[in-house]
This record gives sequence, structure tokens and C-alpha cells, in this order.
Amino acid sequence: MIPVIKPVLGEEEAAAAAEVVRSGWVAQGPRVAEFESAFAARVAAGHGVATSSCTTALHLALLLAGVRPGDEVVVPSLSFIATANVVRHAGAEVVFADVDPVTGNVTGKTVEAALTGRTRAVIAVDQAGVPVDLDGVRALCDPRGITVIEDAACAAGSVYRDRPAGAGAELAAWSFHPRKLLTTGEGGMLTLPDAERARRARRLREHGMSASAAERHAGAQVVIESYDETGFNYRMTDLQAAVGLVQLARLDAIIGRRRALAARYQRLLAEIPGIACVRDPAHGRTNYQSFWILLPDDFPVGRDDLLRRMLAAGVSARRGIMAAHREPAYAGVRADLPVTDRFTTRSLILPLFHEMTAEQQDRVVETIASAS
Ligand SMILES: *Cc1c(COP(=O)(O)O)cnc(C)c1O
Repeated sequence: MIPVIKPVLGEEEAAAAAEVVRSGWVAQGPRVAEFESAFAARVAAGHGVATSSCTTALHLALLLAGVRPGDEVVVPSLSFIATANVVRHAGAEVVFADVDPVTGNVTGKTVEAALTGRTRAVIAVDQAGVPVDLDGVRALCDPRGITVIEDAACAAGSVYRDRPAGAGAELAAWSFHPRKLLTTGEGGMLTLPDAERARRARRLREHGMSASAAERHAGAQVVIESYDETGFNYRMTDLQAAVGLVQLARLDAIIGRRRALAARYQRLLAEIPGIACVRDPAHGRTNYQSFWILLPDDFPVGRDDLLRRMLAAGVSARRGIMAAHREPAYAGVRADLPVTDRFTTRSLILPLFHEMTAEQQDRVVETIASAS
């Protein structure tokens, strides 16, 4: 069976985790601090605040942006459902924006159609690793006092206008789930340029505590912490961070391999009439976290039938990016999203993983070609 993705994990990650176990300190501590600095440096962000997931990092981002009940937050429906769910976690209302048909991302234009007098924030997603045109969205939102949060869950190592994706964001959230390119099992990060907000995010992540457990443990004096606002337990552990540090050192090699495999897919798939593939946008470079294709309307086999045929041929593909507005949980939300509807019903995600061979790739393409 050819898997859709497979994390790149080796003896180095195992050794790093074992070292943390032997140290006796496994919760959030020195490794988390080290991972925060190293990751923030890699994505050219001022500060990194490690979290338990991207979902919790996005929740913190909304709180830092001042989102409250009664506010509206604009998000693309075409995203993993967490992008919409976090808006509700913050007590606000989800408003869906459509996406660009080529990149699958929101643009200034698609966001503009969704703004109202109650819009407090926008979550712009780097879908499948393709960097969103953040400048276009910020040009619209900054003058209106609307905070733009980048959901960079998939985008570690992607490039936007010659800088790492996320570098230009007021708040960016990352995921280290194994479905992404850099994994800590579960895990996430919030990155941001502002030191004061980073301090607040660190407190909110740890129950609202004024001094972290690690600081109190390391201190030579008695420190009595205070709790000035209601926080959460959104911490990452040192076990996870130690794995993350090793993974971070592999990131460029992982992306190099994915880009080479993606280029080969694009060459092979160009032989099948009408198929569109994910590719680099005009304003940057994707890390190919997911390799999606879009079937033409006249493709002889339906998308779900094609997935079944692929499975029978030993190829584990996936439906394309989901659309939250089509799920029962969001049935009550108004949505007129023609591009999103087409994208989500006509697209699929092909297998792409570090150790994938040319022979495996040929088999994937042959299965699609035989259905065309
Ligand atoms: C994976 C993903 C998330 C959620 O990440 P977790 O770390 O699993 O919470 C959020 N947004 C997007 C776009 C994602 O792809």
C-alpha cells in the first residue's frame, strides 16, 4: 500500500527523547525554550510560544487579537475544520470567505466580500503549504483595524516574497502534527514580532501563571506566582520539543525531496488532459505539504470513484481539502462559496512522502491515467 504521507523519523529523534527522559524533567522546560528560539529563527519571526497544537495556538492568537463574543472572524471554509472551530472557542461568529481558484487561498478580494462592521479578525491560511498573499489581505485589513492571523499550520519552510512564510504576520500559528512536514507527535507554535504579546501568550498557555513552573523550579529564591487572568493548559512538553529540534534540522532536506517529487508529478500528470496540480504561486514557493490535483468537469470518473479505484490499486489517496461550510457543525452559517465548492468536490490529495520511489509515483499516475 502506498501511503499518502509518512513522517521522517529516525534514531536521532529517539535519542533526543530518551535524553529528556533520563534528565528527569519531561514537562515544559529548557527544551521547549530552545525549540521556541530555533523555530522562530528559522521562520524569521521575533518570538515563538510553543503550544500543544496549532488549534490551541490559533485560540491564543484570537485572544491576543482581542476577539470577543459578538465579534465576527473571517476564515476560509476551504481548510481543516480547526480554522473555523477556534473562532467558536473564542466565543465569536464564523464568517466564511471564498478562495482563489489557482492557489486555494483567500485573497484581499475574497476577504473583502465577507467583511462587516463587526469583523474583528481574519484567519488567512497557507493551504497545503502554498503561501497566502498576506500583503494583499493586510492591505485591506490593517487600515480598518482588523487583525490578520496567519494559519501557517502546513507552511513550515514555505517562502513568501523571498522571506519564510509567517515572517510578515502579526500572529502566525503552526502545527507539528505528523500530517505536516515537521512533527512532534502533537504540538504547535505561535510566532509573533511583539515581545509584550509573547509574554502574555506564555502566561495564557500556562493557566495564566505569572511565573512558569520551570522558572520556579530553577529559581534560587521562593517565588509565589499570581494568576491575573483565566488561562489554559496549552503547554508543549520537553519530550516533544527535543524531537522538534531534530526535525527542524531535517526540514530543508524534507522540503527539497518533496519539491523534486512534486516536479516529477507535475511532468507526469501534464500528459493527462485537463488535470490541474498545486504549484508555486506567483508570490512565493510552497513546501508541498500536500500535493493536490483538481479533476476537470468532464473527467469520465467521479472523484470518489477514482479514490476507490486508487485504493483497490494499493494507492492511499485522500479527498481534497475539506470545506467546513458543508459539515453539519456549520450548517447554520450562510455561505455562497462557488470556488470552494468546486475545489472540495473535484480535488484529491496524492501520496507524497520522503522515501517515495519513482516506481511508486508512476503507479499513482497510471491509476489516474487509466481512469481518464
Ligand atoms: C492541521 C491543521 C490545523 C490543526 O493543527 P493541529 O496541530 O492538529 O491542531 C489547523 N489549520 C490547518 C490549515 C491545518 O492544516
